[in-house]
Order: sequence, then C-alpha cells, then structure tokens
Amino acid sequence: MVKRFDGREYNELRKINIKLNVIENAKGSAIFSFGDTVALAAVYGPKPSKMSLDYDKAFLRVRYSMLTFSTPERKKPTPSRREIELSEVIKRALEPALLLEEIPGSIIDIYVEILNADAGTRTASINAASLALSLAGIPMKDLVVGLAVGKVGEKIVADLNKEEEDYDSEKLKKDPEKSKYIEYYGEGRATDIPVAIIPSEKKFTLIQLDGEISSKELNDALNLALEKAIEVKNLMKKSILNEYRVSNL
Ligand code: ADP
Repeated sequence: MVKRFDGREYNELRKINIKLNVIENAKGSAIFSFGDTVALAAVYGPKPSKMSLDYDKAFLRVRYSMLTFSTPERKKPTPSRREIELSEVIKRALEPALLLEEIPGSIIDIYVEILNADAGTRTASINAASLALSLAGIPMKDLVVGLAVGKVGEKIVADLNKEEEDYDSEKLKKDPEKSKYIEYYGEGRATDIPVAIIPSEKKFTLIQLDGEISSKELNDALNLALEKAIEVKNLMKKSILNEYRVSNL
C-alpha cells in the first residue's frame, strides 16, 4: 500500500527531537526538530529596558533567521523580507501565552536560527522558542505548540515536509518513480496551514493558510492540529521535567 512520500500515516508527525540548554550564555535555549527541520532558539533576559520603562509589561523581541547552509541552495546571509515577517509571526504566536505584565519595564530577546530547513521552520521555531522561554523562567500560561497541517492533493495530513509542500499531481505524472504517490494523495497541489496552539485553552494563536481548501476540510485539518498539539506538548513537557530532574541530581 502506498503511503506518504516518507512512509508516514496521514496523521503522523515527523520524528521529534528535543535538546535543552544547548547554549551556555543564554538564559534558556532549546533545539527542536520535526524530522530534517531543525530550529535552535536562545532566550536572553528579562533585562531592564531603558526604552520600555513606562510600559506596563515586558517587551518581546524575536529574530528568526536561516543559516546560509540550512537549505540545499546556499541562502543569502542578509535578512530577507521572509525572515523579517516570520520574526513577527513567531512573536505574535508566542505573546498570548506569556504573562508579560508580571515583568514590566523589561525586555526579552529571542533568537531563532534554522540549522536545517525541510518545511515547517516557523512551527519548529515556535516550539524551540517556547521551550527556551520556559527554561529561562519567563512566566507563561502554557507552552505554545506550533505545527503544520494541510491538504496535499486531496488528503488532509499533519506536518508537511518540503516534498509535500511542493506537491503537484500534474508534475508527478511525468515522473515514473513518483507517479504512484498520486494514488495516495490524489489530484491537485498542496495547501499548507501552519498553526500555533495554547493546548490547555484549545486556543489558536496563529493560523496561516497558503493555498485552497473547503471549510469542511479546514475544520478537519484544525481538529487534527488540536489533537497533535497535545501530543507535541506532552513531549515538550516531558523533556523539561527530565531536564530539571537531571540538573537537580
Ligand atoms: P516554513 O519553513 O515555515 O514552512 P515557508 O513556507 O516560507 O516557511 O518555507 C517552506 C520551506 O521552503 C522552508 O522550510 C525551506 O525548506 C524552504 N525555503 C524557504 N526559504 C528558502 C530560501 N530562501 N532558500 C531555500 N529554501 C527556502
């Protein structure tokens, strides 16, 4: 039976890998991977901010960037429009879970570097940042979980990889090795839906949609995202508890 390009079931996430406190100088840091997509996040602060003294809550700054060697073609090192936009997207996805009013007048810096990219870098970044914020002791309601769901051909799937994001049944028909996958995915192209969720509140803090989808399919995809977010959160939580246990020995 034909399955997804990498042999997964429709609702199966790529292999998740988590490494915590990987940067000595950061207050909290984490590496989070979905398969070949690897994000590293480091949190500095909270530190007193001269510019935000009269604010009634902490000020969050996020910088997302992809290492030049993170993609098959070397990426330009200068910040692209995409990187500037994704920095803002990640900030907005995280902010609703942070209790920033508890640390007024301070500034928190989050740096995210993509070490390897194979689709889903913004969602892996959200998870790495969320873990790093938690390790830095920033007050939060819950961990924010990022993951992508979507429609590839006619099939709703979780956690699209790059090959799935680029799916086009018309192109596959010309490829004798890959045309068998049309049997699984069906006709059409891909619609990627990156989301971020506060699992304890079942609240979405990010929904982006690139492509076309019916409202029924969107509903199915978002329900799948909620279900998978709980699975990801449990892994994240387990890794944090494990870290505290080891460091308290
Ligand atoms: P996301 O990584 O969150 O899915 P995009 O949809 O913008 O965001 O990108 C999809 C994928 O395309 C990335 O994960 C990466 O594999 C690839 N990609 C994005 N930008 C570049 C780039 N400048 N050079 C090469 N590959 C890129």
